[in-house]
Amino acid sequence: MGKVCLHSPYSNHSALWLRGNLHAHTTISDGDRPPEQVIAAYEQLGYHFLALTDHDALAPIRDYQPRTHLTLIPGVEVSARGPHILQLGLEVVQEPAIDRQRVLDVITAHSGLAIFNHPNWEWHFNHFPQDLMHSLDGATGIEIYNAVVERLEGSALATDRWDRLLSHDKWLWGFANDDSHAAQDDGRAWNMVQWEVGAPLTAGALLEALRAGRFYASTGVTIQTIEVDGLTVRVKTSDAQCIRFVTRWGAVAHCVEAPVAEWTVPDVPDVVESVKYVRVECFGLGTRMAWAQPIQVVYQP
Ligand SMILES: [Zn+2]
Ligand SMILES: [Zn+2]
Repeated sequence: MGKVCLHSPYSNHSALWLRGNLHAHTTISDGDRPPEQVIAAYEQLGYHFLALTDHDALAPIRDYQPRTHLTLIPGVEVSARGPHILQLGLEVVQEPAIDRQRVLDVITAHSGLAIFNHPNWEWHFNHFPQDLMHSLDGATGIEIYNAVVERLEGSALATDRWDRLLSHDKWLWGFANDDSHAAQDDGRAWNMVQWEVGAPLTAGALLEALRAGRFYASTGVTIQTIEVDGLTVRVKTSDAQCIRFVTRWGAVAHCVEAPVAEWTVPDVPDVVESVKYVRVECFGLGTRMAWAQPIQVVYQP
């Protein structure tokens, strides 16, 4: 007899949470500050890691790394000739092919990490067509929140796209980034990586944690723990006012107005298909939110 169980990317053990932004522009492309100033701004905000991701250009982070305590991750925003894709972890500037699969193939060939950017940007709310995201192989994540889009056309939030992809078995992690072009964009959206106390902090180790989904995305709410115990998901935050448990096709299965909450996945025959995953959304003061990564409902024979 098999049984239904939950696959969580998170560890139940106590850990540190490291804060970082993976999407920032400098004067190397259309940002209004040189790289040194962008790095200094994120140091001031108390971040642990940062990726400078200019449009089709690579910032020379090896020059800056010795002078900052931030862990710098090499990055490029592949931009020309198609929807934007964040390329992390490789020091390569590729010719942006119209065929975005070729862009992803270059990233995966170098063991890099690829993220679909701001899907709901632009007046038509469709910078990254859903069918295209669905058809491309090799991406690790999707920007479910891109802060600069708040002051542009379209929607900063893209959890609608995310739920559709997850529900179709397209397993991507959700990222929140500033996409900073100017000082006003800094510190609005970030990723918190669950980190083992004492583990050495390197760009490579951070990328592995991101690839494994050991992080949550935030615009201000702090998650302390996300634990799985059998079929129960338990979340503890320091400042959420409302916590929702979202399942397949975006259905909200449970909602609690408190900083801590739990929900037990019902052990019914079709649960693997009907629930499929559980992801936690936290609402805090004002527009502050946090989004945990999906926990998969699986059948173990
Ligand atoms: Zn972009
Ligand atoms: Zn950008």
